Amino acid sequence: MAVTRSRMACRRSLVLALLLAVVLVAGPLAEVADARPRRRATSGRRAKKRPARLRTARGPGPCKWRGGGSVHPLCNRRGGGIRLVVVTNVPGTNMSVNQAWAPNVTSFVQAARAAGFDLQAHDGAGPGQGSFRTAAMQRELRRRGYPANRPGTSMHEWGLAVDLLCNGKLFIDDPSNHWCREWVRANAHNFGIYVHPGEPWHWSSNGR
Ligand SMILES: [Zn+2]
Repeated sequence: MAVTRSRMACRRSLVLALLLAVVLVAGPLAEVADARPRRRATSGRRAKKRPARLRTARGPGPCKWRGGGSVHPLCNRRGGGIRLVVVTNVPGTNMSVNQAWAPNVTSFVQAARAAGFDLQAHDGAGPGQGSFRTAAMQRELRRRGYPANRPGTSMHEWGLAVDLLCNGKLFIDDPSNHWCREWVRANAHNFGIYVHPGEPWHWSSNGR
């Protein structure tokens, strides 16, 4: 009798452990599925081999936002900053973007490369100025007369915008990178990347 009871207890704890494992695995998997771009990259295998480097940066004002007692989904729960990813999957690409948007940008850059076009962030105003910017960088750009948003209002501060160079040229009408720009305009939306209506070089997660 005692043996049967201990067997039943053993089975019960086994079932509980299995349920716990399913909950622990299913949660993070659902998050990963949400962050995935709509179209798969042609060379996704390479992206897995070279995982992107992570660093955390202080975000702008909205990172202090609290809705229903939880931290904004783009913010790092511990540090209060946003989680940044340096896109390293394609050599020579100098983009630092939000962890939530990084899979989109990585697939986008890889697909462009496969089509024969090189995409980079335009760091003409200084190192790192073409993708993620802190509020201080944003202020400095304005002081120097660049058409940058007020600190706290730019998608660059969220790591959700990139000022694109297409085959090494700024994203403006130039016959030498015409086909690169055409490719970006035709394909970016497949990766959740949209152009600002007034700034043809500024591509972000929402077109702002
Ligand atoms: Zn921009």
